[in-house]
Amino acid sequence: MYRPEPDRDSRQWWERLAGGEFAVQECDACATVRFPPRAFCPACRTEAWRWRAVEPEGTVESWIVNHQPFMPGFQVPYVVVMVRPATVPGCLVYGGWRGERPPEPGERVRAVRIRVDEELSLVDWIPAETSERADIHPFDRKSSH
Ligand SMILES: [Zn+2]
Repeated sequence: MYRPEPDRDSRQWWERLAGGEFAVQECDACATVRFPPRAFCPACRTEAWRWRAVEPEGTVESWIVNHQPFMPGFQVPYVVVMVRPATVPGCLVYGGWRGERPPEPGERVRAVRIRVDEELSLVDWIPAETSERADIHPFDRKSSH
């Protein structure tokens, strides 16, 4: 089974995600936001930073169709989308596609949290206009922690 391996830089990000928060790092010195997590600001090399919770929204950059099961219970073929987050347009985030139709290039999407277990959640994406559905968990608007 696929399971991400959090490292020193990403562990807190995975912990926040499991708690329902999508966060990016913000540099204390120049306020540049970055993703995925890393130790240094790519703009000014400053090590000091803080987490900043953001709305997990963006636009579809591209996608692939995978015919191999990714995790038990996944239907095949399934689609993995690359998303350019609105808050950190210099980065790409990938995740499963949960739309009821294929993605379209450049369309607006938002993330949903797929809870695997108490310690692990994954990020999938749906069309921004999708209404609430019982089988998906929206991100918390504010962290409860
Ligand atoms: Zn900086």
